[in-house]
Amino acid sequence: MPADATQLWIVGAGPAALALADSCVARGVRVGILAPDPRAAWIPNYALWLDDAIELGVEGFLARRWARAEARFAGGPRVLDRGYALLDARRWQLELLARCEAAGVRIETNRLAEISHDDEGVELRCEDTTCLRARLVVDASGHASPFVAREPGGAPYYQVAWGELWAVEGGHPVHREDPMTFMDWTSSGPREAAEELPPTFLYAMPLGDDRLFVEETVLAARLGRAPADYFPALRARLHRRLERSGALTLAGRPQEVERCVIPMGAPLPRGDQRTLAYGGAASMVHPATGYLLTNVLRRRERVADAIARELADWVGPGGPSRRIWQAIWTPEEVRAWRLYSFGLEVIAELDRAGTDRFFAEFFDLPEHCWRGFVSASGPTTELMATMLRYYASTSRPIRGRLSSALLGRRGLRMLRGFAGLER
Ligand SMILES: Cc1cc2nc3c(=O)[nH]c(=O)nc-3n(C[C@H](O)[C@H](O)[C@H](O)COP(=O)(O)OP(=O)(O)OC[C@H]3O[C@@H](n4cnc5c(N)ncnc54)[C@H](O)[C@@H]3O)c2cc1C
Repeated sequence: MPADATQLWIVGAGPAALALADSCVARGVRVGILAPDPRAAWIPNYALWLDDAIELGVEGFLARRWARAEARFAGGPRVLDRGYALLDARRWQLELLARCEAAGVRIETNRLAEISHDDEGVELRCEDTTCLRARLVVDASGHASPFVAREPGGAPYYQVAWGELWAVEGGHPVHREDPMTFMDWTSSGPREAAEELPPTFLYAMPLGDDRLFVEETVLAARLGRAPADYFPALRARLHRRLERSGALTLAGRPQEVERCVIPMGAPLPRGDQRTLAYGGAASMVHPATGYLLTNVLRRRERVADAIARELADWVGPGGPSRRIWQAIWTPEEVRAWRLYSFGLEVIAELDRAGTDRFFAEFFDLPEHCWRGFVSASGPTTELMATMLRYYASTSRPIRGRLSSALLGRRGLRMLRGFAGLER
């Protein structure tokens, strides 16, 4: 291989691709990025917990921060004494791109069509028939990637949300110190019963300069129709909720609309394939919350370490990929994922009242318990302790559901998967 040849192709230019590329070039890996529009602005409004943003190195790229968040339930509100943050995604994206370019990353504007592995490494065939070679490939092309082999599994659950950014001209002014609403499970009114929607909650970020971002969200559901079919009903429910609350007078159009579809609990990738994956393509979305950024940020240094190590000691393909998969998904994280997915399946079957009760009881747990759970930051033993504590304290109907799921097929499947990624 020529001394300046690309060693690693990363497919995609979303947060997972650029964050990993940045960590790899910092270790001297010669990286190429392949995406149809590598500089296109990311669309979602990415948010995360403030302490995670600080710990994971993106504090300098925050557009807005809140000292605390709030959750609302039928039984009353709860203050979540934990800061929350909205990422200035465009600034972070441009910074990552600039760092990659300065480090000599090759940026290829193209769309991957096919990956083939051989004795030397990997060949990527693009849609226009261009062929690119390297020793390793990481697929970071998002949730819908067709290039990654996964464990068998049923149709995933989906998080679907309709978000709008409004200038607040009427109603209550938006103050900088207003807490953000992490989830509001209270009813949007009697018309709810007639709407064909799974349980939904309101997510709201007051942006301080009289702008309000609001989103009506299905946390996770198995859907009978295409996810986008649910947007009109979510939009109607969101508007009704805003009108009822007097938060703002809806006149004109929102400044922005966000359409959100996130597969939740999608089967994990197999650990014996030579195509590596990262981000949505590697099913790294937190199965119980839909958040991905913290996982991408938390794992990127150790995955880049593993990639750099394998390339430095290169003996041929095969073994390196298996070892790098262990860094993408440690056995500990696989166990946690199985526990979260088990929780997801139970939550997704609850009706609105049940979901409201579930989260009200969850946020009544001591703060360190729910913090670790929603950030996926603690070890499995801690996660299990939180789940057991929840089990012991929850009301009888939810405990009954958890017991029958645990003692049935789902519990067995979860325990069987505790060894790690399938091979
Ligand atoms: C509306 C919305 C809001 C979200 N909000 C949050 C949030 O607040 N916090 C959070 O943690 N998570 C959030 N998520 C979840 C998750 O963080 C995102 O889905 C995230 O964008 C996934 O990152 P990714 O880099 O893996 O993939 P993507 O962002 O989907 O990027 C995929 C990249 O691959 C490229 N690509 C696709 N196919 C090919 C191909 N064949 N060849 C080459 N390139 C290809 C694309 O052009 C793109 O550049 C949100 C998701 C959505 C949809």
